[in-house]
Formats: sequence, C-alpha cells, structure tokens
Amino acid sequence: MKKAIFPGSFDPFTIGHYDIVQRGLDLFDEIVIGIGRNSVKKETFPIRERLAAIERLFENNPKVRVAIYDCLTVDFAREQNAHFILRGIRCVEDFEYERNMAEANKQLGGMETILLYTRPEYAHISSTLVRDLYSYNKDVSEFLPKR
Ligand code: ADP
Repeated sequence: MKKAIFPGSFDPFTIGHYDIVQRGLDLFDEIVIGIGRNSVKKETFPIRERLAAIERLFENNPKVRVAIYDCLTVDFAREQNAHFILRGIRCVEDFEYERNMAEANKQLGGMETILLYTRPEYAHISSTLVRDLYSYNKDVSEFLPKR
C-alpha cells in the first residue's frame, strides 16, 4: 500500500492544496494531511478549526485522514508508516525550498518527496494571499474549497 503524508501549515487550506490532494489520490492509496504546529509562525486560523474544516472536506473519502503534528515532518511520516511526502510547487522559489526540504527529509528519514505542479489557474493562490485579504475583511470564499 502506498501511503503519503501531505504536510503544511494550511493556514488556511486553499483550493490549491485541495487540488494537490485530489491529484495525489491517483498516486497513493492513502494520504494523511498533516497540519504542522509551528511555534514560530503566528497562526491566523486556529489549528483546531483548520483540522475540523479539512476533515469536513474529506469526510466521505476514507483514503484521506487529517492530523495535527508538532514534531519533525520525517518523524510524523514515520509515525504514520508513510514512505512518501507529497508537496506542491507553484514557482521557482517553491522549487528551491522544496528541493532543500526533500534532500533533508531523504537524508534524515529516507523519505521520498513527490512534487506535483500546481494547475496554472491556481499558481497565484497561497495561504498568505488569503490571510492578507481576510485581514482586510475581504470575501475569501473563492479561494477555499467547497464541500
Ligand atoms: P508550508 O508552510 O509547509 O509551506 P503550506 O500550507 O503553505 O505549507 O503549503 C503546503 C504545500 O502546498 C507546499 O508544498 C506548497 O508549496 C503547496 N501549495 C500551496 N499552495 C499551492 C497551490 N496554489 N498550488 C499547488 N501547491 C500549493
């Protein structure tokens, strides 16, 4: 059985993230979405609310689970018995970052990282953009997946 974790902050979980999970399901038998608790980054959406919102999205899909973790990503992957880390890339900056993370996770835990390219229409969508708009009381629903 091929199992992957999809780690991230997901503050909040956008249609870009949703699309990566949906496409990842063609590659993996199970995906565990791991919401990393980050003591450095300030959160906008409380982590429990993020968990509940993502769980609701996938409540009818037994191949997707959601969990919060506060350890190293490789340790979370190991705990979940996953051998793959799923991530998405939008641009060259993402690529540089993801390559370093992938190398570290390979070296530390023997994890293989699988990168999926964003759909071009989602390339500009990030949690940061959504948080910025939200902080100015703008409607962000078009960036969030619908149930
Ligand atoms: P992190 O804080 O670990 O970067 P994010 O929650 O920002 O986590 O993103 C999780 C993963 O989803 C990352 O691999 C990121 O590149 C990817 N991602 C974010 N937005 C998009 C998008 N619009 N299209 C494809 N991948 C995306």
